[in-house]
Amino acid sequence: MNWDEFAQWGSRISDWSADYHKTLRDRPVRAQTSPGEIAAQLPKTPPEDAEAMDTILADFEDIVMPGMTHWQHPRFFAYFPANAAPPSMLAEMLVTTIAAQCMLWQTSPAATEVETVMVDWLGQALGLPEGFTGVIQDSASSATLSAVLTMRERATGYCGNRDGLSGTGQLRIYCSDQVHSSIDRACWVAGIGQANLVKIGTRGARHAMDTAALKEAIAADRAAGHIPAGIIAITGGTGVGACDVLGAILAVAKEEDLYTHLDAAWAGAAMICPEIRQDFWADVDGFDSIVFNPHKWLGAQFDCSVQFLKDPNPQLNTLKIEPEYLKTTGAKVTNYSEWTIPLGRRFRALKIWFLIRSYGLEGLRSRIRNHIQWSRELCNALRELPGFEIVTEPILSLFSFRCPGSDDDQQRLVDALNEDGRIYLTQGAFSGRKIIRFQVGQFDTTREDVMLARHVIEEVWEKISRGS
Ligand SMILES: *Cc1c(COP(=O)(O)O)cnc(C)c1O
Repeated sequence: MNWDEFAQWGSRISDWSADYHKTLRDRPVRAQTSPGEIAAQLPKTPPEDAEAMDTILADFEDIVMPGMTHWQHPRFFAYFPANAAPPSMLAEMLVTTIAAQCMLWQTSPAATEVETVMVDWLGQALGLPEGFTGVIQDSASSATLSAVLTMRERATGYCGNRDGLSGTGQLRIYCSDQVHSSIDRACWVAGIGQANLVKIGTRGARHAMDTAALKEAIAADRAAGHIPAGIIAITGGTGVGACDVLGAILAVAKEEDLYTHLDAAWAGAAMICPEIRQDFWADVDGFDSIVFNPHKWLGAQFDCSVQFLKDPNPQLNTLKIEPEYLKTTGAKVTNYSEWTIPLGRRFRALKIWFLIRSYGLEGLRSRIRNHIQWSRELCNALRELPGFEIVTEPILSLFSFRCPGSDDDQQRLVDALNEDGRIYLTQGAFSGRKIIRFQVGQFDTTREDVMLARHVIEEVWEKISRGS
């Protein structure tokens, strides 16, 4: 392909992209395919001879698109959102075009410097005090793994990387039973082990970690000769939006000299609203590490996860490695690959720059406030449906409910709704029961989209209960 042809196809694809977004409401949200259906349409062997872009794109439309679930659909209410505001998509097109490896300052000085400023802008937007620095990672899972490795190294006098862990005692990490599975996996791969991730029970309307139980667990571990290494708190758990009381956890961490990490992958976006911050994020500035995904609710195209660090040195002491071929000379610069596990890095800061400038913080705040408001309205509307139960009240824009009947009936309703295609929801578990989760957060969703869900849920529920 020459660059003139590239320009023609590029403009055709950008037209296609705009049409796709404008007509998304006409498509079923979740792919309506069965396993193997797409693979069966692909040739078993790669082509020996070149094919025309016309043919490739036609197959993309015919074979691939029917097998896609539409995360940018305004009636996507499943999981958490993965928004891609149009200016952030444009920035990604530019980043894809330049295709630079931004691992060191000198391999693209602008990427490093824009990243430094964007982390600072976001820190200000979230009300973090001056002095916090940070780095943009691919995902919250990677940021949490970096923090867990840092807990491990700090607790072993920074000897784990050198000596391995066979000579140390049992390192212990504490969190509530509402955390995301990425915390379990970070403990697996950091060599800490699932058995040493201590999950503490929760209490209260926001399902916050019971800090009295946390203290007892730490004391018992010390008595048993174990080595407490860190505490992971959560703002906005995946199941029902659990939010820990940050100050209470920090007080324990301080007493016990433990490193602290806060997972706010989803809910962090809402903290750009001062009134929400006041309600949920008192004392947040005491955390050593905080992760928040601008690629979820805020609107930056996936992937884009920001890890804030009160002091980057413990993490640098854990992850920094400098072989001869990566050494740079000259002025003091930041090399962000020293802050993370992968060496290669994309220029992720550009889409944050485009996003924040295109909407302003006020434009982004008004979306989040609307989503929270509409989620409450829908929750109240579902409460009125006969036999329906609100299991957990809205925390930010997430609540959960049950239809009349057994756990199997909940799953039957979720499956029937997703086959209907007008909305997309997923199930969860709470207190040993199956629940249906509902979150509002898609960038283009409207109040009408959200309120339509009540009608769809009622209609589909009536249909399946008549059928049984
Ligand atoms: C989404 C989510 C994660 C995982 O995020 P990735 O960026 O996909 O790794 C972790 N914690 C919470 C609370 C989340 O919502």
